[in-house]
Amino acid sequence: MASRHPPELAHPGAEPECPDCRGSGTLIRRAGERAAAQDCHCVVVCPDCRGTGLVPQSEAFRARVKRCRCQTLLARRRIFDAANIPARHSDSTRASFVPKGRHQTAVLAAVSKYLASYDPRADNRGLILYGQVGRGKTHLLVGLLRDLVFHHGARVKFVEFSHLLADLKSGFDVGRGMAALIDPLVEVDVLAIDELGKGRNTEFEGTVLDELVSRRYNAVRPILATTNFAPGSSGASVANAASVQLGTGPSPMLSDRVGERVYSRLRETSDFIEVQGEDHRELRGRG
Ligand SMILES: [Zn+2]
Ligand SMILES: [Zn+2]
Repeated sequence: MASRHPPELAHPGAEPECPDCRGSGTLIRRAGERAAAQDCHCVVVCPDCRGTGLVPQSEAFRARVKRCRCQTLLARRRIFDAANIPARHSDSTRASFVPKGRHQTAVLAAVSKYLASYDPRADNRGLILYGQVGRGKTHLLVGLLRDLVFHHGARVKFVEFSHLLADLKSGFDVGRGMAALIDPLVEVDVLAIDELGKGRNTEFEGTVLDELVSRRYNAVRPILATTNFAPGSSGASVANAASVQLGTGPSPMLSDRVGERVYSRLRETSDFIEVQGEDHRELRGRG
């Protein structure tokens, strides 16, 4: 039987019926450019440790103490705050994802299944959500990351590929080199890459992506990603991007964009799920 995955770690001082945090005691708010976790207004001084952070194991005088649940939760919030999740996605959860049709209901179920099967003590597969823009892929990715942190205590990072490249370039300019920026992305339990394959496809971009994917592959650590490109290769030459833009060549696919080596590693280690359906952004605009 499949193991039951742990629920979201709740603050012991949270109001179980609170409609704002659903009893978890944690709210995600915008903090500058990033999403950050904080106490919900319903949270009172922790009843388990009375705010000391330590819980006696017995009634005995000088009983052994253990770290309180509220401290584990604080540690998870710090992981979440350091994950680099964009502020515009502070409300993106699995619960706030409204499936448009049966297909998207199935996608949401697949994401929930990934969360349920994630095992912090074992090797985990990756997950690539692909499909056209505006289908809610990043929403699902962020919702999953958030749950991996608060259900499993997974250390996660979110990167938008174009931002990573810009950071790397400015890092090179001040002589920090690639390792300082890449190492933290290799070390985390789960790395989420938004907009995989987007970019200008320069040699530099290819080198960075290859380094990142190869090192995580060798360390057996999963990559979660969104991409606008379908799995496979169209045979279209990357150098021939001009004809693609003119609509005269075959549409590029993920392998064309990230290179065969990176693609085959992702193929081997990850499940690919197509996200179809109406354009979420368009719907919002109309509403
Ligand atoms: Zn609350
Ligand atoms: Zn406590």
